Amino acid sequence: MLRKADAAAGANDAPQAPDDEGTPVSVKIRERILAARQRFHANDNIAEFIQPGELEALLDEVEHKMRGVLDSLVIDTENDHNTANTARRVAKMYLQEVFRGRYVNAPGLTEFPNAERLNELMIVGPITVRSACSHHLCPIMGRLWIGVMPNEHTNVIGLSKYARLAEWVMGRPQIQEEAVVQLADLIQEKTQPDGLALVMEAEHFCMQWRGVKETDSKMINSVMRGVFLKDPSLRREFLSLLPRRKD
Ligand SMILES: [Zn+2]
Repeated sequence: MLRKADAAAGANDAPQAPDDEGTPVSVKIRERILAARQRFHANDNIAEFIQPGELEALLDEVEHKMRGVLDSLVIDTENDHNTANTARRVAKMYLQEVFRGRYVNAPGLTEFPNAERLNELMIVGPITVRSACSHHLCPIMGRLWIGVMPNEHTNVIGLSKYARLAEWVMGRPQIQEEAVVQLADLIQEKTQPDGLALVMEAEHFCMQWRGVKETDSKMINSVMRGVFLKDPSLRREFLSLLPRRKD
């Protein structure tokens, strides 16, 4: 059998390993996701398909491809000291920081039964949200408020845990209106409240840095679930308790 490495001798600068080791790790992960018939859009989490050690290999792969992008932008990464390590930096930033929420499991939560039988409206926020749009990978920076109406069966989680859940969902290339729904679904599933309300207000840098260059536009999205949908006075109470947003 003619090995690929022999056939393409000299044509490929990447070291060729035998068999399966020559397959890019992204391809292996993608094949597992396809076999499980799962979705892998930009704002989906794919942690369950990544095996130990593969994130490191993925980092090398993204660095290699990122270097190709810089080459195609005709940037002399060999002689320009500013961009010599940019490919590695960007790969790390994507995989370990700004898009980490795609590649790691959900933060562990300690849930407590609602022993105090809390049944008053609780508001958490503002929580700072940081993300990037799926369309341009430009930053999205904003704030989030969460209203929870517990019942006696609701699992109570610590206030900081809401921020960790938000960070996990926002740490992916996102679309704001999809992000608030993903986060609402997650909080609903983890805590089972009677009602849940989310308001997210964010600036989209793809509107400021490029495109229409509108520097002062914010996008506001809300999701209302359970009693917040049925009870207009509760909804009004929640919205009135949010700090007045600057116009
Ligand atoms: Zn955009």
